[in-house]
Amino acid sequence: MIHSLNLKAYGKINLGLDVLRRREDGYHEVRMIMQTVGIYDRIDLEQREEPGIEVETNLHYLPTNENNLVYKAAHLLMEEFSIKKGLRIKLKKFIPVAAGMAGGSSDAAAVLFGVNKMFGLGLTLKELMDRGVKIGADVPYCLMRGTALAEGIGEILTPLPPMPQCKVLIAKPSVSVSTKYVYENLHADQLRKDQHPDIDGMIQGIRAGDLYAVAEKFGNVLETVTQKQYPVIREIKEKMKEMGAVNAMMSGSGPTVFGLFVNPAAAEAAYEEIRYGSFADKVKQTYLTNFYNNKEVPGNGI
Ligand code: ATP
Repeated sequence: MIHSLNLKAYGKINLGLDVLRRREDGYHEVRMIMQTVGIYDRIDLEQREEPGIEVETNLHYLPTNENNLVYKAAHLLMEEFSIKKGLRIKLKKFIPVAAGMAGGSSDAAAVLFGVNKMFGLGLTLKELMDRGVKIGADVPYCLMRGTALAEGIGEILTPLPPMPQCKVLIAKPSVSVSTKYVYENLHADQLRKDQHPDIDGMIQGIRAGDLYAVAEKFGNVLETVTQKQYPVIREIKEKMKEMGAVNAMMSGSGPTVFGLFVNPAAAEAAYEEIRYGSFADKVKQTYLTNFYNNKEVPGNGI
């Protein structure tokens, strides 16, 4: 019996994000190129004799009750399998919150994985994904990780070959964006054909292992909405490109911006500039990382 587990919940960026239409039920049909990056939240699970789920986090503004996605994930499995023991969840956030990096979804995915392992439930990855989508559309992808095409509401996944490695500079401006607001202000039906990113072209570039071909086709239809509200997004993108990024774009509904660099020295200089230079008071979190394509992490599970 496993009494404690240490998990890593990795964040994602979108290399491409297209919205096809708004469905009758209010959800949006999307086509997204998802890519895991090397930034992760740490989640420690500890089994308890006393029943109940207890959540503790380093960010005072996050809920520690059933509104936290880690709680929801644990509760979903523990209820289904009538687990009488208790669980303590320690969550240490590093992934920017409400930023377009699927932090909450990834935390939920890690807890699903961990609870399955800890209590020996024997669920397959597919079975975990089927349950994960009830918590959030990105949870199945966060269980799968790597490079993938996500369709439907984000839950229909096609794994793609790993992206060629490069430096990924991530900057989260000090503004908050509501995903709901962004989608409500998109008006997907009114987008012209040339406003949709070439997702198929990006897939071809990924299959050919051509980083430049993928970066050249970067496109995120949600950028128009968020960027209008927060010009700092465009400013960061321009700074990253000026400093040598192959290309730069907003992730998800934003406001996180990322830039890809093939030259590590240029990436380092851009990191310094954004973190300590002209953007120091406009950017809350800055990370220099890589694509994360290794799905097997011994000792960590996820
Ligand atoms: P996505 O890329 O899927 O749109 P996101 O980056 O916009 O995700 P999250 O950081 O996952 O958004 O969370 C958004 C909201 O969910 C927060 O405002 C927070 O109150 C709530 N939340 C619940 N659980 C968590 C969690 N474990 N981590 C972060 N936020 C959480």
